[in-house]
Amino acid sequence: MRDFVQSGRGMSATRMDKRSAPGWYAALEKLSAKAGVNAPALYRVPTHRINGGMAFDALVLTDGLITLAGSHPHDARPSREVMMVMAHELGHRKQGAAALLMPRLLPWAMPFAAMTALYLYDQANAKKNEQTPKELQGSIDRAADETVGDIKEAPAPSSFGDGHSHQVNAQWKESALHAGRYLLAGALGFGGGLLGTRHIMRHHEFDADHMAVLLTGDTEGYISFLKKLHTAGERQFAAEMAKKPRPVHVEEKLKDYIATQWKKLMQNTIDAHPSLDERGFALRTCKNFPDFRTRLADAAVGDGLLK
Ligand SMILES: [Zn+2]
Repeated sequence: MRDFVQSGRGMSATRMDKRSAPGWYAALEKLSAKAGVNAPALYRVPTHRINGGMAFDALVLTDGLITLAGSHPHDARPSREVMMVMAHELGHRKQGAAALLMPRLLPWAMPFAAMTALYLYDQANAKKNEQTPKELQGSIDRAADETVGDIKEAPAPSSFGDGHSHQVNAQWKESALHAGRYLLAGALGFGGGLLGTRHIMRHHEFDADHMAVLLTGDTEGYISFLKKLHTAGERQFAAEMAKKPRPVHVEEKLKDYIATQWKKLMQNTIDAHPSLDERGFALRTCKNFPDFRTRLADAAVGDGLLK
């Protein structure tokens, strides 16, 4: 429930506030107080697409999600499952906007950091290797001796051109090696950044799940709602794929291929959600996570799971 901003583009969202939806507003305020965050503004988007999430300072739910969660936008109060969604998103709100944005920047910041580190390393090394005039004179003398030795032993170069091309070759090799090291540093930074982001985002997801269960006090109910959401999401995706026109021209095919591969990479890294099994397992055993106990104290809520 993260890609709301992209998929909801172009549709007009309706605000659900104290006046237009008092029951919904009150429920969100109560959950927010329990979670220890300021209540976000609540919006609904009139589409049957199932989606929802925090969009900056607003909690946005599509009509598709509201319906799936057993409510109607004009109900006096949100259903229990809508409140589970709200609680999950409040968990993300508690993590803070920076916590959500930072991991997205990580894969781009890490190559930069790695290449900067390599550059500084090279600079420091170059300084260390700088010779004093006396040392320089010494090495010139040594080199001169060696060169004379070389000439004595080695066969004479067949032509001037040959020697020149050797020099160009060596220079080219050195710059290729230099560029290669930076490319490698950048690639390693990007890969490390993606892995780091995957780790952070998955952690955020577990945390938000914990918050949902903490605020609603219904572990099994929440897990079965997640399953329902997952199944509905799969059905929606399959329907959208069936409607999507197949690429015909080579250019379209190539574009489609690149877009698909990129999406796959993102889904396995930045956008990787833990699997349903992992989420269920974490929720059922979270009483044993020392980390979770601290977070529980954080939220300052005594009821719910640990009862
Ligand atoms: Zn989430």
